[in-house]
Amino acid sequence: CKVKDMSAEVVDSNPYSRLMALQRMGIVENYERIREFSVAIVGIGGVGSVAAEMLTRCGIGRLLLYDYDTVGMTKTDAAVQTLADINPDVVLESYTMNITTVEGFETFMASLTNKNFSTSKSGSGVDLVLSCVDNYEARMVVNQACNELNQTWMESGVSEDAVSGHIQLLVPGETACFACAPPLVRVDERTLKREGVCAASLPTTMGYNALKDYFPTMEMKPNPQCSNSACLERQMEAEASSLAQCPVHEDN
Ligand code: ATP
Ligand code: ZN
Repeated sequence: CKVKDMSAEVVDSNPYSRLMALQRMGIVENYERIREFSVAIVGIGGVGSVAAEMLTRCGIGRLLLYDYDTVGMTKTDAAVQTLADINPDVVLESYTMNITTVEGFETFMASLTNKNFSTSKSGSGVDLVLSCVDNYEARMVVNQACNELNQTWMESGVSEDAVSGHIQLLVPGETACFACAPPLVRVDERTLKREGVCAASLPTTMGYNALKDYFPTMEMKPNPQCSNSACLERQMEAEASSLAQCPVHEDN
């Protein structure tokens, strides 16, 4: 069975045999192209560190890691050390900083737009941003950066009891941004610690339920009244390009 084959490959320490295994399974076409991609991971905690490890084992080209916290060493330096051991071919960049400060945001934006390595066609120098942070403010900052750069990103959240969570794909102008549908209840996260509730993402965490293996999905269109001006710009661009592609308009 496929699952058994895959776990057998995971214990193999050679990253290329893993890469080849994924190729053999035929799930992704042109699998080897993964080496051309850059992924930025914001927050190297419970979610971000596992995402970084998996991408490293899959043979991703380049990872940019952001976190302000330390575990003796800084979390990002510790991650770089571990990941380089797993797969020395991945280009690893460590950014120990708070993305919500003025200086941190500038460095964040500059690193995302650095195109020295990238093959990305968007305005950004990376192909995907993964938000693996645990608070609303940091998510809003990732949202701001990605709206400004027209950068596709994914947002994640895990409940405190770790049995539920959510994943959201955000494509600026095409899907709702993080500010399009702001949390209905804004409370001080520091005062909110209830069992089973992810304080950081209260309204959207009610997605995946691991105990019931229930994973509902839904699509959210962007909000034309979004408070984020970069989101409104991306919405206008998306609308203009869809009108340009509409044959009715060519006739007029
Ligand atoms: P879990 O809740 O299961 O522990 P998680 O990954 O959702 O998993 P954390 O382990 O708390 O949550 O990881 C969040 C990470 O994001 C932490 O390492 C934290 O330091 C980092 N982080 C949060 N806000 C910022 C920020 N503004 N700038 C940089 N890093 C941040
Ligand atoms: Zn928006």
